[in-house]
Amino acid sequence: MDALKRKVIEDGVVIDESILKVDGFLNHQIDAGLMYEIGEVFHSQFGDQGVTKVLTIEASGIAPAIMVAHRFNVPCLFAKKAKPNTLNEGHYQTDVHSFTKNNTNRVIVSTEFLSDQDKVLIIDDFLANGEAALGLHRLAQQAGAETVGIGILVEKSFQPGRARLEEASLNVSSLCQVASLKGNKVTLLGDDND
Ligand code: 5GP
Repeated sequence: MDALKRKVIEDGVVIDESILKVDGFLNHQIDAGLMYEIGEVFHSQFGDQGVTKVLTIEASGIAPAIMVAHRFNVPCLFAKKAKPNTLNEGHYQTDVHSFTKNNTNRVIVSTEFLSDQDKVLIIDDFLANGEAALGLHRLAQQAGAETVGIGILVEKSFQPGRARLEEASLNVSSLCQVASLKGNKVTLLGDDND
């Protein structure tokens, strides 16, 4: 998706060889028009799959996911980070290791909002090791729901996330694929940016 690729190249800040900061349009300040367009693109890809719910994880997945959900005219559901002492009756739950924070969070979704009638489209901002997307897929499985696809805004293709999702037979679509962050520079897949 050209508009997103342009933003990543122009506004992305390389923190180190594995982390890209996108606070200018996605993770702090949000480009609403771009999120709207992202909804259109994922709808063109998954619109015939009978999606009943868009599932993401708080917090940074919510901005794109809500626009995707709006386009599909279905609810946007986000997995919440559970408080340590919360009793999790009435919830599906799983543990997700955070790549950027290097900690593990228990995340929950109420049984009220996900069931075996649902066809779920998982949306997230980044794909690194696939932990967040696989965790969301596990929540869908606990509910007996079907995961029809995974929509990612920025895939870091030098990390193993895509391979892990494909191993789990999940259909992954990424709008921007980053080949490398080496040399303090964003290089997209199939593009040396020279
Ligand atoms: P994964 O779960 O695939 O290992 O990592 C994806 C999750 O970690 C996303 O939900 C995203 O919030 C965060 N993340 C991973 N890599 C990056 C990165 O390079 N930049 C930012 N801003 N977030 C990242």
